[in-house]
Amino acid sequence: MAAKPEELGHSNYANQMAYTPPMPRIISIVSLALILVLAGTGRMFAQANPEWTEPFPPFRIAGNLYYVGSKGLANYLVTTPQGNILINSDLEANVPLIEASIERLGFKFKDTRILLISHAHWDHDAGSAMIKEQTGAMYMVMDADVGVVESGGKTDFEYGNSPNTLYRPAKVDRVLHDGDEVKLGGAVLVAHLTPGHTKGCTTWTMQVTEAGKTFNVVILGSPNVNPGYKLVDNKAYPEIAEDYERMWRVLKSLPGDIFLGAHGSYFGLEEKYPLMKAGGANPFIDPSGYKKYVAQKEQDFRTELARQKLAAK
Ligand SMILES: [Zn+2]
Repeated sequence: MAAKPEELGHSNYANQMAYTPPMPRIISIVSLALILVLAGTGRMFAQANPEWTEPFPPFRIAGNLYYVGSKGLANYLVTTPQGNILINSDLEANVPLIEASIERLGFKFKDTRILLISHAHWDHDAGSAMIKEQTGAMYMVMDADVGVVESGGKTDFEYGNSPNTLYRPAKVDRVLHDGDEVKLGGAVLVAHLTPGHTKGCTTWTMQVTEAGKTFNVVILGSPNVNPGYKLVDNKAYPEIAEDYERMWRVLKSLPGDIFLGAHGSYFGLEEKYPLMKAGGANPFIDPSGYKKYVAQKEQDFRTELARQKLAAK
């Protein structure tokens, strides 16, 4: 997530309405009300973060890996002969954009067999219930994020009491554990637990083959310490600082030839995409960019941890 919840103003009432399950016999009125409420929710999220719902051209990154996200929220499609894997569902307002991007590339949204997420924050998982309904995809989530996803954000250690960040709960079909593989039609994605930003924050890795060469892909879950996060004496998440430490160890151990993440801003989507269009070397193959980014984020974490420790004395 990129913005503080208080920046994402929309009413508590809208959230309660969004949870109301549509009743089959009075579909027209209820679904119309839901559509209006959800459209309103999407608009209000989008007002605070216009880039989140701003379309971005879909494109092939390398091999069978495609970018199908918006300008501000990253989605990835892994295509296989047995259907496709989609990473991240974003806001419900993004779902039609994701669908349009997939179809524009010549694939079918309905062929989405597996839905994965970077972590259980609304900007990456609020659209999951809708995508499950529309595609029948199996939803697979890291163990420590399952409770948050299935409560629609209510059990999140930081934002659980912030109505603005809640969303429609979605049922998880497979609970993932650190190191688990997600396999479909020859594609293999590995789920790495990189906790701290959320308890089950997940960094995905896979290999892609491009022009006879194999590249290691890293899709970073999130390395950020959000505004308001307590790294010291956090009652709701006592092991938060240790979890961040674990994340740095994992991120530094992963070979990252192709560097991607939950937001395009992590890896310079807007700068790299025009370079890709212009031809020449694939700008997303950026192992030094990956190392540099992780080092910078670790340094930011250490600065913030030291500041909080000093303030706690
Ligand atoms: Zn987040």
